[in-house]
Amino acid sequence: MAERMLKFTTIARRTPEKREAEARGRDFLEIYADFIDAKATEQASRCSQCGVPFCQTHCPLHNNIPDWLRLTASGRAEEAYRLSQATNNMPEICGRICPQDRLCEGNCVIEQSGHGTVTIGSVERYLSDRAWEEGWVKPLRPLAGERGQSVGIIGAGPAGLAAAEQLREQGYAVTVYDRHDRAGGLLIYGIPGFKLEKDVVERRTERLAEGGVVFHLNFEVGRDASLPELRERHDAVLLATGVYAARDLELPGSGSDGVVAALDYLIASNRAGLGDTVAEIESGALYAEGKDVVVVGGGDTAMDCVRTAIRQGAASVTCLYRRDKENMPGSMREVANAEEEGVVFEWLAAPRGLLGDAAGVSGVRAIRMRLGPPDSSGRRAPEAVDGSDFDLPAQLVIKALGFDPEDLPTMLGASDLSVSRWGTVKIDRRTQASNLDGVFAAGDIARGASLVVWAIRDGRDAASSIHSYLQTKAEAPALVAAE
Ligand code: FAD
Ligand code: SF4
Ligand code: SF4
Repeated sequence: MAERMLKFTTIARRTPEKREAEARGRDFLEIYADFIDAKATEQASRCSQCGVPFCQTHCPLHNNIPDWLRLTASGRAEEAYRLSQATNNMPEICGRICPQDRLCEGNCVIEQSGHGTVTIGSVERYLSDRAWEEGWVKPLRPLAGERGQSVGIIGAGPAGLAAAEQLREQGYAVTVYDRHDRAGGLLIYGIPGFKLEKDVVERRTERLAEGGVVFHLNFEVGRDASLPELRERHDAVLLATGVYAARDLELPGSGSDGVVAALDYLIASNRAGLGDTVAEIESGALYAEGKDVVVVGGGDTAMDCVRTAIRQGAASVTCLYRRDKENMPGSMREVANAEEEGVVFEWLAAPRGLLGDAAGVSGVRAIRMRLGPPDSSGRRAPEAVDGSDFDLPAQLVIKALGFDPEDLPTMLGASDLSVSRWGTVKIDRRTQASNLDGVFAAGDIARGASLVVWAIRDGRDAASSIHSYLQTKAEAPALVAAE
């Protein structure tokens, strides 16, 4: 084994080829090429097979990374794939969009020793993409027949989809409800194609449908049925609704034409990419071509907006963020990609007002900030620098300030559902169970806006608890009869 591994001293770290910024800025295709077989084998062989693998500890799914790297380095790709999919319902999606620099790769021992991390995410993506090509991805089937119990899942994002797969495999009748017309949640309508092409998501949802998971799309719980009604219909219900209440810019002029919410903008762009006719794109209301665009915010959503605007042919794209680059919540990899593509970052700058007239917005008045002492969250709080106002031209201003949960008890017609003071569903962290019998929660709606990999982890944990709950429920009448 040692001969095949531990090559980090002789083989340099290589990521898959990245397309030139100029070329990729003209389309919505993914920017990274695939690893060829030889490259994946070579890069996997750099792993030092740590006895205590910090990569695994810092992966929310605790993927068995050292073992699948060893199998890949030995040319045993199918076995490596089987191991990687045993803990992850969407390895090729995580391989593409996990912020690896903060998770597995950022904690790789050889990264810490200055040799450059093993490219874990790219190998994970390679294994699953190859599995789809080679037919190694097996159809979804109940492992031990049908159980005769049903689960309703509200939300077809990664949390709901991961739970649906786990539960269907256990033999439950699974119905997924989503208010959108396509399954995938933010994987399909939030995250742009240049990070995650949509057919990668669609083949996952198609596999679930072919395996017997029933999708009720265009079905809004709260409008088309209430939570109490779904509890009547199913033996258990999982809430996986995500968080969609966008934080607003509370500034004069923020309601003007040309000032838009990030998710409206991204959904329109993703819909157009999927072939839909989108009136707001046709009219230009949600289209950046020829415009000076200012995006306010510093997270992943802001990065997706600035890079979408570049691809739509904006005249200029500026990101305004009130802290500095080091304190930005978005992934550094995405910031670097955006800079290469021509986005201008105004660090330590915040909007003070929006300029314009009845015809719409024409600019943003901003002010320079500095970082003061840490606030209650431990982060240094930004403070305005007096007299440092400056103006930026803008005919399109995109608000990307983050998301909070919607008012779920009201929305779902379930006033007895307990939520935290932030609006997330209150759950028992060991079981994902809410205060309502047979109702569980997973993903962003339980933990607040987070990551795809955490949503998958929650979905898997919730499925496991639902399975235990339903087994107990199925056995209960038999126990009563025996007494
Ligand atoms: P969601 O993906 O939000 O899915 C929830 C689903 O529930 C939606 O389809 C919604 O339509 C449905 N729903 C809601 N209410 C109802 C209702 N009443 N009735 C029926 N259906 C309902 N994470 C990463 O790891 N990497 C990234 O690069 C990344 N980029 C991101 C970019 C953007 C623009 C955004 C907004 C987020 C990004 N994230 C990223 C975060 C990630 O997308 C989320 O953490 C993840 O999708 C949460 O999964 P979820 O299943 O909890 O919810
Ligand atoms: Fe790394 Fe994400 Fe894959 Fe875990 S799921 S190994 S964190 S890329
Ligand atoms: Fe291999 Fe890095 Fe994980 Fe160690 S921490 S097992 S070197 S990938």
